Amino acid sequence: MKNNSVLIVGSIGLDTIETSFGKRKNLLGGSATYASISAGRFCPVNLVGVIGNDFPDEGKLIFKKYCDNIDDLRIENGRTFRWGGRYHQNNDDRDTLFTDLGVFENFKPKLSDINKKANWIFLANIHPTLQIDVLQQCNSSPKVITDTMNLWINTTYDELLSVISHTNILLINESELVELTRTTDLEKGAKKVIDMGPENVIIKCGSKGSMSYSKDNVISIGVVSDCKVVDPTGAGDSYGAGFISGLVEGLSISNCMARGTVMASFCIEDFGIQAMLDIEEDQYLKRIKSITIT
Ligand code: AMP
Repeated sequence: MKNNSVLIVGSIGLDTIETSFGKRKNLLGGSATYASISAGRFCPVNLVGVIGNDFPDEGKLIFKKYCDNIDDLRIENGRTFRWGGRYHQNNDDRDTLFTDLGVFENFKPKLSDINKKANWIFLANIHPTLQIDVLQQCNSSPKVITDTMNLWINTTYDELLSVISHTNILLINESELVELTRTTDLEKGAKKVIDMGPENVIIKCGSKGSMSYSKDNVISIGVVSDCKVVDPTGAGDSYGAGFISGLVEGLSISNCMARGTVMASFCIEDFGIQAMLDIEEDQYLKRIKSITIT
Protein backbone atom coordinates (compact mmCIF):
# COMPACT_ATOMS: atom_id res chain seq x y z
CA MET A 1 0.00 0.00 0.00
CA LYS A 2 1.34 3.43 -0.90
CA ASN A 3 2.27 5.67 2.04
CA ASN A 4 -0.22 8.29 0.92
CA SER A 5 -3.13 5.91 0.25
CA VAL A 6 -6.36 6.11 2.20
CA LEU A 7 -8.26 2.94 3.05
CA ILE A 8 -11.96 3.74 2.76
CA VAL A 9 -14.57 1.51 4.35
CA GLY A 10 -18.27 2.22 4.06
CA SER A 11 -21.53 1.48 2.30
CA ILE A 12 -21.97 1.12 -1.44
CA GLY A 13 -25.53 1.19 -2.64
CA LEU A 14 -28.31 2.31 -4.90
CA ASP A 15 -30.23 5.29 -3.57
CA THR A 16 -33.77 6.50 -4.23
CA ILE A 17 -33.92 10.16 -3.35
CA GLU A 18 -36.65 12.77 -3.18
CA THR A 19 -35.83 16.47 -2.84
CA SER A 20 -37.66 19.63 -3.83
CA PHE A 21 -35.99 19.19 -7.25
CA GLY A 22 -37.68 15.83 -7.88
CA LYS A 23 -37.21 12.11 -7.39
CA ARG A 24 -34.47 9.81 -8.72
CA LYS A 25 -34.34 6.02 -8.41
CA ASN A 26 -31.34 3.68 -8.06
CA LEU A 27 -28.65 6.32 -8.11
CA LEU A 28 -25.15 5.15 -7.38
CA GLY A 29 -24.61 6.03 -3.72
CA GLY A 30 -23.37 4.89 -0.34
CA SER A 31 -20.91 6.53 2.01
CA ALA A 32 -17.86 4.77 0.52
CA THR A 33 -18.89 5.75 -2.99
CA TYR A 34 -19.05 9.47 -2.26
CA ALA A 35 -15.90 9.21 -0.17
CA SER A 36 -13.90 7.38 -2.86
CA ILE A 37 -14.80 9.91 -5.52
CA SER A 38 -13.98 12.84 -3.24
CA ALA A 39 -10.64 11.53 -1.92
CA GLY A 40 -9.76 9.89 -5.23
CA ARG A 41 -9.35 13.30 -6.79
CA PHE A 42 -6.36 13.97 -4.51
CA CYS A 43 -4.76 10.70 -3.35
CA PRO A 44 -4.76 6.94 -3.96
CA VAL A 45 -7.83 5.22 -2.51
CA ASN A 46 -8.07 1.57 -1.45
CA LEU A 47 -11.72 0.62 -1.18
CA VAL A 48 -13.33 -1.92 1.16
CA GLY A 49 -16.98 -2.77 0.60
CA VAL A 50 -19.54 -5.14 -0.88
CA ILE A 51 -21.89 -5.04 -3.85
CA GLY A 52 -24.44 -7.52 -5.19
CA ASN A 53 -24.41 -9.11 -8.63
CA ASP A 54 -27.12 -6.63 -9.68
CA PHE A 55 -24.68 -3.72 -9.32
CA PRO A 56 -24.49 -1.70 -12.55
CA ASP A 57 -21.32 -1.84 -14.68
CA GLU A 58 -21.34 1.95 -14.79
CA GLY A 59 -20.75 1.94 -11.01
CA LYS A 60 -17.88 -0.54 -11.28
CA LEU A 61 -16.24 1.74 -13.84
CA ILE A 62 -16.47 4.67 -11.43
CA PHE A 63 -14.62 2.68 -8.75
CA LYS A 64 -11.98 1.62 -11.27
CA LYS A 65 -11.49 5.26 -12.21
CA TYR A 66 -11.35 6.82 -8.74
CA CYS A 67 -9.73 4.02 -6.71
CA ASP A 68 -6.17 2.82 -6.88
CA ASN A 69 -7.02 -0.59 -5.42
CA ILE A 70 -10.34 -2.48 -5.32
CA ASP A 71 -8.99 -5.87 -4.19
CA ASP A 72 -11.29 -5.70 -1.15
CA LEU A 73 -14.41 -4.73 -3.05
CA ARG A 74 -16.40 -7.95 -2.81
CA ILE A 75 -19.11 -8.96 -5.28
CA GLU A 76 -21.62 -11.34 -3.67
CA ASN A 77 -24.60 -13.21 -5.03
CA GLY A 78 -27.61 -11.14 -4.01
CA ARG A 79 -28.98 -7.65 -4.01
CA THR A 80 -26.88 -4.53 -3.55
CA PHE A 81 -27.64 -2.37 -0.47
CA ARG A 82 -30.48 0.07 -1.19
CA TRP A 83 -31.52 3.17 0.69
CA GLY A 84 -34.38 5.62 0.16
CA GLY A 85 -34.59 9.11 1.63
CA ARG A 86 -36.85 12.16 1.39
CA TYR A 87 -35.52 15.62 2.27
CA HIS A 88 -37.45 18.32 4.08
CA GLN A 89 -37.71 21.80 2.58
CA ASN A 90 -34.80 23.02 4.75
CA ASN A 91 -32.49 20.41 3.12
CA ASP A 92 -30.84 19.72 6.49
CA ASP A 93 -33.43 17.18 7.70
CA ARG A 94 -34.48 14.01 5.94
CA ASP A 95 -36.60 10.93 6.51
CA THR A 96 -35.32 7.47 5.69
CA LEU A 97 -38.03 5.79 3.60
CA PHE A 98 -36.42 2.36 3.45
CA THR A 99 -33.14 0.54 4.09
CA ASP A 100 -32.66 -2.75 2.29
CA LEU A 101 -29.38 -4.26 3.52
CA GLY A 102 -29.12 -6.92 0.82
CA VAL A 103 -25.57 -8.30 0.66
CA PHE A 104 -24.56 -6.01 3.54
CA GLU A 105 -26.50 -8.19 5.93
CA ASN A 106 -23.82 -10.92 6.00
CA PHE A 107 -20.82 -8.79 5.05
CA LYS A 108 -17.65 -9.56 7.00
CA PRO A 109 -14.80 -7.48 5.58
CA LYS A 110 -11.60 -9.47 5.18
CA LEU A 111 -8.65 -7.23 4.42
CA SER A 112 -6.01 -8.23 1.91
CA ASP A 113 -2.44 -8.18 3.23
CA ILE A 114 -1.80 -4.90 1.44
CA ASN A 115 -4.74 -3.17 3.11
CA LYS A 116 -3.75 -4.43 6.56
CA LYS A 117 -0.78 -2.05 6.27
CA ALA A 118 -2.88 1.09 5.86
CA ASN A 119 -1.46 4.33 7.25
CA TRP A 120 -4.72 6.26 6.85
CA ILE A 121 -8.22 4.92 7.31
CA PHE A 122 -11.50 6.65 6.66
CA LEU A 123 -14.26 4.76 8.45
CA ALA A 124 -17.18 6.20 6.50
CA ASN A 125 -20.71 5.70 7.79
CA ILE A 126 -21.42 1.99 8.23
CA HIS A 127 -22.36 -0.34 11.12
CA PRO A 128 -19.80 0.23 13.94
CA THR A 129 -19.16 -3.52 14.24
CA LEU A 130 -17.84 -3.51 10.67
CA GLN A 131 -15.74 -0.43 11.44
CA ILE A 132 -14.17 -2.20 14.45
CA ASP A 133 -13.67 -5.36 12.44
CA VAL A 134 -11.57 -3.47 9.88
CA LEU A 135 -9.49 -1.73 12.57
CA GLN A 136 -8.76 -5.03 14.28
CA GLN A 137 -7.34 -6.47 11.07
CA CYS A 138 -4.82 -3.68 10.60
CA ASN A 139 -1.33 -4.51 11.77
CA SER A 140 -0.04 -0.97 11.18
CA SER A 141 -0.88 1.93 13.51
CA PRO A 142 -3.11 3.91 11.17
CA LYS A 143 -4.51 7.38 11.69
CA VAL A 144 -8.24 6.81 11.92
CA ILE A 145 -10.86 9.34 10.82
CA THR A 146 -14.42 8.22 11.58
CA ASP A 147 -17.86 9.30 10.43
CA THR A 148 -21.15 7.96 11.76
CA MET A 149 -24.90 8.62 11.80
CA ASN A 150 -27.70 8.98 14.34
CA LEU A 151 -28.92 5.43 13.65
CA TRP A 152 -25.78 3.98 15.25
CA ILE A 153 -25.86 6.44 18.15
CA ASN A 154 -29.37 5.22 18.92
CA THR A 155 -29.01 1.50 18.23
CA THR A 156 -25.35 0.49 18.78
CA TYR A 157 -24.07 3.08 21.27
CA ASP A 158 -21.50 0.85 23.00
CA GLU A 159 -20.01 -0.42 19.72
CA LEU A 160 -19.82 3.16 18.48
CA LEU A 161 -18.02 4.25 21.66
CA SER A 162 -15.49 1.52 21.03
CA VAL A 163 -14.87 2.82 17.48
CA ILE A 164 -14.59 6.38 18.79
CA SER A 165 -12.01 5.30 21.38
CA HIS A 166 -9.78 4.12 18.48
CA THR A 167 -10.40 7.25 16.41
CA ASN A 168 -7.96 10.13 15.94
CA ILE A 169 -10.47 12.53 14.41
CA LEU A 170 -14.25 12.18 14.67
CA LEU A 171 -16.50 13.82 12.08
CA ILE A 172 -20.03 14.35 13.29
CA ASN A 173 -22.89 16.65 12.50
CA GLU A 174 -24.42 19.03 15.00
CA SER A 175 -27.57 17.05 15.79
CA GLU A 176 -25.61 13.78 16.07
CA LEU A 177 -23.22 15.44 18.53
CA VAL A 178 -26.19 16.44 20.67
CA GLU A 179 -27.48 12.84 20.62
CA LEU A 180 -24.05 11.34 21.31
CA THR A 181 -23.08 13.62 24.18
CA ARG A 182 -26.53 14.63 25.46
CA THR A 183 -25.67 18.31 25.57
CA THR A 184 -26.79 21.12 23.26
CA ASP A 185 -23.66 23.14 24.05
CA LEU A 186 -21.28 22.36 21.16
CA GLU A 187 -18.16 23.19 23.13
CA LYS A 188 -19.14 20.94 26.03
CA GLY A 189 -20.14 18.22 23.56
CA ALA A 190 -16.78 18.49 21.79
CA LYS A 191 -14.95 18.18 25.13
CA LYS A 192 -16.95 15.05 25.92
CA VAL A 193 -15.92 13.54 22.57
CA ILE A 194 -12.27 14.35 23.26
CA ASP A 195 -12.61 12.57 26.61
CA MET A 196 -13.80 9.50 24.66
CA GLY A 197 -10.45 9.24 22.82
CA PRO A 198 -10.12 11.40 19.67
CA GLU A 199 -7.63 14.28 19.65
CA ASN A 200 -9.92 16.30 17.45
CA VAL A 201 -13.62 16.54 16.61
CA ILE A 202 -14.96 18.17 13.47
CA ILE A 203 -18.57 19.29 13.83
CA LYS A 204 -20.46 19.72 10.54
CA CYS A 205 -23.17 22.34 10.88
CA GLY A 206 -24.74 22.13 7.38
CA SER A 207 -25.33 25.52 5.83
CA LYS A 208 -23.62 27.18 8.85
CA GLY A 209 -20.21 25.66 8.10
CA SER A 210 -18.05 23.49 10.34
CA MET A 211 -16.01 23.72 13.54
CA SER A 212 -12.90 21.92 14.72
CA TYR A 213 -12.29 21.39 18.43
CA SER A 214 -9.10 20.00 19.93
CA LYS A 215 -7.69 20.36 23.46
CA ASP A 216 -6.15 23.74 22.70
CA ASN A 217 -7.68 25.03 19.49
CA VAL A 218 -11.02 25.98 17.98
CA ILE A 219 -11.39 26.65 14.23
CA SER A 220 -14.49 27.83 12.42
CA ILE A 221 -14.95 27.44 8.66
CA GLY A 222 -17.63 29.00 6.47
CA VAL A 223 -19.40 27.49 3.48
CA VAL A 224 -19.33 28.15 -0.25
CA SER A 225 -21.95 30.83 -0.71
CA ASP A 226 -24.64 30.80 -3.41
CA CYS A 227 -24.56 27.04 -3.84
CA LYS A 228 -27.64 25.45 -5.38
CA VAL A 229 -28.74 22.58 -3.13
CA VAL A 230 -30.32 19.95 -5.38
CA ASP A 231 -29.54 16.83 -3.31
CA PRO A 232 -27.61 16.94 0.00
CA THR A 233 -26.95 13.17 0.02
CA GLY A 234 -23.30 12.34 0.47
CA ALA A 235 -22.22 15.84 1.53
CA GLY A 236 -20.85 14.50 4.82
CA ASP A 237 -18.97 11.68 3.11
CA SER A 238 -17.51 14.02 0.49
CA TYR A 239 -16.47 16.42 3.25
CA GLY A 240 -14.84 13.68 5.31
CA ALA A 241 -12.92 12.18 2.42
CA GLY A 242 -11.77 15.57 1.14
CA PHE A 243 -10.66 16.35 4.70
CA ILE A 244 -8.59 13.17 5.10
CA SER A 245 -6.98 13.56 1.66
CA GLY A 246 -5.71 16.93 2.91
CA LEU A 247 -4.30 15.33 6.08
CA VAL A 248 -2.45 12.81 3.93
CA GLU A 249 -0.84 15.69 2.03
CA GLY A 250 0.17 17.38 5.29
CA LEU A 251 -2.27 20.30 5.03
CA SER A 252 -3.30 22.16 8.18
CA ILE A 253 -6.60 21.18 9.83
CA SER A 254 -8.21 24.41 8.60
CA ASN A 255 -7.11 23.79 5.00
CA CYS A 256 -8.35 20.19 5.24
CA MET A 257 -11.70 21.56 6.43
CA ALA A 258 -11.77 24.01 3.53
CA ARG A 259 -11.13 21.18 1.07
CA GLY A 260 -13.88 19.08 2.66
CA THR A 261 -16.27 22.02 2.49
CA VAL A 262 -15.57 22.61 -1.19
CA MET A 263 -15.98 18.93 -2.12
CA ALA A 264 -19.31 18.87 -0.25
CA SER A 265 -20.39 22.05 -2.06
CA PHE A 266 -19.99 20.31 -5.42
CA CYS A 267 -21.67 17.14 -4.18
CA ILE A 268 -24.97 18.84 -3.33
CA GLU A 269 -25.36 20.63 -6.67
CA ASP A 270 -26.88 17.67 -8.48
CA PHE A 271 -28.51 14.32 -7.70
CA GLY A 272 -26.25 11.52 -6.51
CA ILE A 273 -22.60 11.63 -7.51
CA GLN A 274 -23.15 13.50 -10.79
CA ALA A 275 -21.70 16.86 -9.81
CA MET A 276 -18.65 15.19 -8.24
CA LEU A 277 -17.67 13.78 -11.61
CA ASP A 278 -17.50 17.14 -13.39
CA ILE A 279 -15.36 19.28 -11.10
CA GLU A 280 -13.11 21.67 -13.03
CA GLU A 281 -9.82 22.54 -11.33
CA ASP A 282 -10.37 26.31 -11.72
CA GLN A 283 -13.81 26.03 -10.10
CA TYR A 284 -12.31 24.01 -7.25
CA LEU A 285 -9.57 26.61 -6.64
CA LYS A 286 -12.04 29.49 -6.87
CA ARG A 287 -14.19 27.92 -4.17
CA ILE A 288 -11.20 27.14 -1.94
CA LYS A 289 -10.23 30.82 -2.09
CA SER A 290 -13.77 31.87 -1.13
CA ILE A 291 -13.84 29.96 2.17
CA THR A 292 -13.49 32.00 5.37
CA ILE A 293 -11.37 30.55 8.18
CA THR A 294 -11.52 32.02 11.70
P1 AMP B 1 -24.81 11.17 3.98
O1 AMP B 1 -25.77 11.99 3.17
O2 AMP B 1 -23.44 11.74 4.02
O3 AMP B 1 -25.37 10.84 5.33
O4 AMP B 1 -24.62 9.77 3.24
C1 AMP B 1 -25.60 9.26 2.42
C2 AMP B 1 -25.30 7.82 2.01
O5 AMP B 1 -25.37 6.97 3.16
C3 AMP B 1 -26.35 7.35 1.03
O6 AMP B 1 -25.78 7.27 -0.26
C4 AMP B 1 -26.83 6.01 1.58
O7 AMP B 1 -26.72 4.98 0.63
C5 AMP B 1 -25.91 5.73 2.75
N1 AMP B 1 -26.64 5.18 3.90
C6 AMP B 1 -27.90 5.42 4.32
N2 AMP B 1 -28.22 4.68 5.40
C7 AMP B 1 -27.11 3.95 5.68
C8 AMP B 1 -26.80 2.98 6.69
N3 AMP B 1 -27.68 2.61 7.61
N4 AMP B 1 -25.54 2.45 6.68
C9 AMP B 1 -24.64 2.82 5.76
N5 AMP B 1 -24.89 3.71 4.78
C10 AMP B 1 -26.11 4.27 4.74
